[in-house]
Amino acid sequence: MERTFVMIKPDGVQRGIVGAVISRLEAKGLKMVAAQFTVLSEEKVMEHYAEHVEKPFFPSLKAYVMSGPVLTMVWEGKDAIAIVRRLVGATNPAEAAPGTIRGDMGMETGKNVIHASDAPESAAREIGIHFTKDELVAYTRIDEAVLY
Ligand code: ADP
Ligand code: MG
Repeated sequence: MERTFVMIKPDGVQRGIVGAVISRLEAKGLKMVAAQFTVLSEEKVMEHYAEHVEKPFFPSLKAYVMSGPVLTMVWEGKDAIAIVRRLVGATNPAEAAPGTIRGDMGMETGKNVIHASDAPESAAREIGIHFTKDELVAYTRIDEAVLY
C-alpha cells in the first residue's frame, strides 16, 4: 500500500472545485487518510518546494500557494503515487490531457489547481512536512473488503 501527498491549491479552493477534485480521487478507489484546511506558512512553502526555490518562477509560485487556504491531504492505495499523478495531468493545464484534473479544470501553469507527489521519496518527504504520524488515520473502504 502506498501513500501520496495531495494539495488542492488556493485557486481550487477559491473556485469551489474542492468537492469535484476529491470526488475524482474517491471514485477512482483511493482512500483519504489525512486532511487539513490551512494557509501555508512561508517555512512550509520553502520546504515543500525546496527543489524550486532557485527557479525564476519561485516568487510567483510562493505568492500563489500562500494567497489563500489550501486543502492538504494524504491519499492511500496500491500505486497511489503514479495513479494520482495520472489523474492530475501535466503541469500546464493548457496542455494537460482532457479527462485529467488539470486538463478539465485549469487554464494556466500559474493556477494549476492541485499538487501531487511525483515519487515515493517525495511523497514520504512531503507527508512528513505537512502531517504528523498520528494525524494519519486507518480505516477500511467498503470496496476494500474481502468478499471471497
Ligand atoms: P508539478 O506540480 O506538475 O509537479 P513542477 O514540480 O514542475 O510541477 O512545479 C511545481 C509547481 O510550480 C507547478 O505545479 C506550478 O504551480 C509551478 N510552476 C512550475 N513551472 C512554472 C512556471 N514556468 N511558471 C509558473 N509557475 C510554475
Ligand atoms: Mg513537482
